[in-house]
Amino acid sequence: MITPVLPTYARADLEFVKGKGAWLTEADGSHFLDLASGIAVNSLGHAHPDLVKIIKSQAEKLWHVSNLYEIPQQRALAEILVENSFADTVFFTNSGTESCELAVKMARKYWFEKGYHDKFEIITFEGSFHGRSSAGIAATASEKMTKGFGPLLPGFLSINWNNHEAIKNSISDRTAAILLEPIQGEGGIRVVPEQCLKGIREFCDENKILLILDEVQCGVGRTGKLFAHEWAEIEPDIMMVAKGIGGGFPLGAVLAKENAASGMTAGTHGSTYGGNPLGCSIGLKVMDIISNPNFLLDVNHKAKNFRAGLSELLNKNTSIFEEVRGKGLMLGLKCKVQNIDVVNAGYSNKLLTVPAGDNVVRLLPPLTISDKEIKQALEKLDCVMTELS
Ligand SMILES: *Cc1c(COP(=O)(O)O)cnc(C)c1O
Repeated sequence: MITPVLPTYARADLEFVKGKGAWLTEADGSHFLDLASGIAVNSLGHAHPDLVKIIKSQAEKLWHVSNLYEIPQQRALAEILVENSFADTVFFTNSGTESCELAVKMARKYWFEKGYHDKFEIITFEGSFHGRSSAGIAATASEKMTKGFGPLLPGFLSINWNNHEAIKNSISDRTAAILLEPIQGEGGIRVVPEQCLKGIREFCDENKILLILDEVQCGVGRTGKLFAHEWAEIEPDIMMVAKGIGGGFPLGAVLAKENAASGMTAGTHGSTYGGNPLGCSIGLKVMDIISNPNFLLDVNHKAKNFRAGLSELLNKNTSIFEEVRGKGLMLGLKCKVQNIDVVNAGYSNKLLTVPAGDNVVRLLPPLTISDKEIKQALEKLDCVMTELS
């Protein structure tokens, strides 16, 4: 018999009742060190005092009014995002998937308004993940995600990851945009080298194609820069954000240059919940904390420690895993054993990690994790590796 909850998830047998910082607690009182962060969502850990304070005070004032009216919290969050990024303008959503929908619509509308009615194709990459909506799965194009859900939304072309020739050969008069994650999350913490991001930007400029970056997982401080593309010193035309920006509250955004957004005039897009006062007041607090250069310095410092510890662990356990990948606190262990066995052994050592594609285990701690907790994480991982060898 089907369960009351639609059985689309393969869940671990864990049930948490409480969280504090980098720790989650089960009803029986057992504590788990959280290197999952709700899949890069709880960027400031669980129950961060500043977020608890803001959600309480805003909840007592106003939750939702609709975009029929002015929303000062939304305006303030847009302003801090514009001030701290390439973007001139921002639209707020409630998830990464919704951000993907708008990014695709925005790119197509841009060319349509310029008179190019056949310029709608979006080039994407194998192993990518952009969400579960019709546009999201068409963009992702993996058999696992799309099988049985056809006909798929047309106008997407998925090519091999990190292959310059494939990019060159894929464009035509129909090409509207290239869409990619600077670091593939679900795909296995696959980092696009900075040189390649630079090359793709130049290629887009030469061929007059929009560059859309999906920073839903790698954005908002995760890599030690506010946005991951900053490492390559490039700017996209359009960028999708979600996950970490809400710190656990459902919040997403599409950031864009004025030119790229020029087709999106009044009435062309909307959202009932997107940009509500409650979500935006939380997002504003998250941005306030994470955009602080000292906060980002601290992320880089901790990431360096963590990475050094993981490299040591790798040297001791070359039969279990073969590589440490990623940037900042978006790290991956490329496994030789089954990645899910590592994740499960983590659970029995009270450590939460996340499996990803390419047989990788993702380590996505809260950005607020302490040096001491990183040491504890390494000790737990050491136990995991010992158990599996
Ligand atoms: C999680 C994710 C999405 C989808 O976000 P949802 O909030 O689950 O809709 C899109 N792109 C990337 C890179 C993601 O990691």
